[in-house]
Amino acid sequence: MVKRVSILGATGSIGTSTLDLIVRAPDQFEVLALTANRDVKKLAEAAIRTRARRAVVADPECLDALRDALAGSDTEAAAGPDAVAEAAAMGADWTMAAIVGTAGLRPVMAALQTGATVALANKEALVSAGAVATAAARAHGATLLPVDSEHNAVFQCFDFAAPERVRRIVLTASGGPFRETSLEAMRAITPAQAVAHPNWSMGAKISVDSATMMNKGLELIEAFHLFPVSAEQLDVIVHRQSVVHSMVEYVDGSVLAQMGTPDMRTPIAHTLAWPDRMATPCAPLDLAAIGRLDFEPADPVRFPALSLARAALQAGGARPAILNAANEVAVAAFLAGKIGFLEIAAIVDDTLERYDPEAPATLDAVLAVDGEARRLAGERVKDCVA
Ligand code: NAD
Ligand code: MG
Repeated sequence: MVKRVSILGATGSIGTSTLDLIVRAPDQFEVLALTANRDVKKLAEAAIRTRARRAVVADPECLDALRDALAGSDTEAAAGPDAVAEAAAMGADWTMAAIVGTAGLRPVMAALQTGATVALANKEALVSAGAVATAAARAHGATLLPVDSEHNAVFQCFDFAAPERVRRIVLTASGGPFRETSLEAMRAITPAQAVAHPNWSMGAKISVDSATMMNKGLELIEAFHLFPVSAEQLDVIVHRQSVVHSMVEYVDGSVLAQMGTPDMRTPIAHTLAWPDRMATPCAPLDLAAIGRLDFEPADPVRFPALSLARAALQAGGARPAILNAANEVAVAAFLAGKIGFLEIAAIVDDTLERYDPEAPATLDAVLAVDGEARRLAGERVKDCVA
């Protein structure tokens, strides 16, 4: 059976890995929509290569360039945030949600509302709107499959038929490029150093999140929404090789882990073929060559983002949405060279201190909280620059 697929964020790191799997099995997949922010060239190339029905850029100013790039092909061009959300609802059987940040929230909701399967890489959507998104998935009978390697690992090990048998979920963290860097040295970290992840090749935003360990904090919140466990049942351990992708501990002491080489095509393929399996070109795991696997606790002093996220998870309500929005603003400012590395967590902390609204119950309410948190975080960025 041919699976109809769409990829939101097709030009990014996850989008490119997803396309790589799809073009290797052209007779198994039909591409409905591919979307991007403004990388017209890469989007058009992918659309032509996969004979996509529609290609969409979020930036309306890129529409003419996209039309030109698609000239002579059968792919329709569209532009604007609404067109991205419409593309998410074209009736795909499987949709990859790989837009980075809260920009992906409305398209994720649109895809969930079709009741189909959504492979979720866009963790920010679940962090800021976890309750709203999972309620929409339930209401429309949609299936959410986690792409994030840790959550995909947990999904593969978790006994959903008897969640009371699970004692704990342990998310592994690589510790990022500054696992051993002193707090003093962290002050001078440059964007180029922060995006150079030791194990994974990823987009800039998630690479900085890995370096601050906010990524693992966001993943704690993501796990809370994906699996039927309490916040207290979620733990983090630093495992620098990124071979054990996460673990589920049962009440009898058994611990099930999923392992593999650090290549996102494995978890993507797991969601693409699920409940079946498909072959990938990923290098097989060679444990003898790796030799040893190391584990250590995370350091809360050098990585305060982790504690901020844990506190936001425990408090619930609007806290995770504020944490996420302030982090997006701070990371963008860091990447633009406006603030220092240690100021990222400080700005998130400050925004959480200054803003404590009611829990948002609808998508619009989440987006309002997100907007106000961005405004407040933006003020602090200006203070840092001044
Ligand atoms: P990336 O920066 O490489 O790609 C982001 C994609 O989103 C691009 O296609 C870009 O055009 C699109 N985009 C950006 N802003 C947009 C906007 N305003 N509107 C519409 N589209 C927009 O990022 P990535 O590394 O592929 O990560 C994508 C998501 O997957 C993130 O949420 C990230 O946390 C998550 N994730 C990534 C990895 C990884 O290995 N890269 C692993 C786990 C989870
Ligand atoms: Mg991850």
